[in-house]
Amino acid sequence: MVDSKKITKSLVDVVGPTRVTDKDFDLVSYGRDLSPAKQKLPTHVVLPETREEIQEILAIANKHNVPVYIRGGGTSHWDAFLPQEPGIMLDLGRMNKVLEINERDLVVTVQPNCTWAKMDKELRKKGLTYLCSEAGGPAMTVGGSVMKAGGGPHSTAKFGFHGNQDVITLEMVLPNGDIVQTGSAAWPSAGKFERQCLGPDLAGMFLGAEGILGICTELTLRVRPAVDFRERMSAILPTLDDVVEFGHFINRHVGDEYLQGIYLWVAPDNPDLFFIMMDIFGYEAEIVEHRKKKILEKIAELGGEMADRAPVDDYYDRILTGLTDLFTAGVWHFFGAGSLRIDDIKFLYKIWREELLEKRGYTKAGFGGQVLPRRSLAFMVTNYKEPEEWEGLVKMADAIDELTLKGPVVPYGVGGRDGLRQIVASHDTGYYRLLKTLKKTLDPKNILQRGIFIPEEELR
Ligand SMILES: Cc1cc2nc3c(=O)[nH]c(=O)nc-3n(C[C@H](O)[C@H](O)[C@H](O)COP(=O)(O)OP(=O)(O)OC[C@H]3O[C@@H](n4cnc5c(N)ncnc54)[C@H](O)[C@@H]3O)c2cc1C
Repeated sequence: MVDSKKITKSLVDVVGPTRVTDKDFDLVSYGRDLSPAKQKLPTHVVLPETREEIQEILAIANKHNVPVYIRGGGTSHWDAFLPQEPGIMLDLGRMNKVLEINERDLVVTVQPNCTWAKMDKELRKKGLTYLCSEAGGPAMTVGGSVMKAGGGPHSTAKFGFHGNQDVITLEMVLPNGDIVQTGSAAWPSAGKFERQCLGPDLAGMFLGAEGILGICTELTLRVRPAVDFRERMSAILPTLDDVVEFGHFINRHVGDEYLQGIYLWVAPDNPDLFFIMMDIFGYEAEIVEHRKKKILEKIAELGGEMADRAPVDDYYDRILTGLTDLFTAGVWHFFGAGSLRIDDIKFLYKIWREELLEKRGYTKAGFGGQVLPRRSLAFMVTNYKEPEEWEGLVKMADAIDELTLKGPVVPYGVGGRDGLRQIVASHDTGYYRLLKTLKKTLDPKNILQRGIFIPEEELR
């Protein structure tokens, strides 16, 4: 049994007394995320300010065999940073600076807990932007998003999907304290300008790893001139087949560059009404106008109707600054969520409609997601305030996940969710075996994010 006070003292020796706590009343605010996951309190919270402090904290954790959990902005909703076992929580909130905007190479370097909102504000002062792709609100951080490879309403193949080439270099502290620079930054006398050089693309190994392979302490991202021309539209399409066809039309005729993923929403009380929102942008007014015309023609050809623009403006204008109504709604649970081919949206919709609405009579979860150029990110989602429903809901969501993931859906956001972790582990693929090998090699004591993504027993 580890002596908690001894750990407190060791942590104080590293960061001083004001940036460590083991007091219940402090710990309690770190025990939940935005999902129905059970409360899990850390034993300590520590707020490092430098990578060297993080190295020392990891040394303490390795010495005492105590797990370390990493919290970015805390807006993920799949139990992705809560202590699955009593352990130290790193709150990276102090590492939040924009370090450099390089206008010549069009890259920005930030600390991990710089929020998207803060980074965008600084970039726009110089006529640049990143076009953050996620709707998680003002607290969401660059490091948190990139480490789970977020995507969202502004994702296009060209603009703003972290899994793509927008991440140029990363600085990672490995579980053993080693510091790794990826891409061109790995060559000490060069700069931070290219993702893929000198051997394999190591940045890719950390994207989406949910922190299990290392702690990100710095990121360099590709930026672009701020987009000045845009059109926003919403429409109602008659059938889901039309939505799918519209997605393919966008791929072929509108192109990856100028339209973000189409945001689809189907409410449970009207499962035959397919509402889509779009935000077209580009560098030339004529091109944006031309794209808009093509879209309007296609929607008319499909028998769709244009709808009100106001909700679209409201939604896209507030992605970074705060869709506050989303957060006051209560707890969020996304399930059946994942990446899939555009044609396979119909597979997921069928499960939502037949298994959730009709068979189980659960009518609080809507269906939606982003019909992105070349692929889709879809989900069922519910939010609610009634804690007494949580347990039942989680069980039902696990059962729906199981059905979904037998099909053409690649899971997204695994975290510590029991059902999902087990489903992923049960797919004994070469990919999963390699991931476990990497984890065991880099982190033999399983210090970092123990129980997140890979169940502990899988690593013994
Ligand atoms: C209403 C709502 C809408 C949302 N919409 C979207 C959406 O459109 N698209 C989308 O992708 N997500 C969405 N999200 C989920 C969430 O906002 C995003 O996943 C966000 O990117 C998480 O960032 P964060 O800073 O809050 O990270 P956290 O939640 O703090 O962390 C996310 C994961 O990364 C790990 N991590 C954090 N920082 C580091 C680091 N420095 N090094 C290593 N690992 C780290 C954490 O341990 C955790 O596993 C939404 C959430 C809500 C509540």
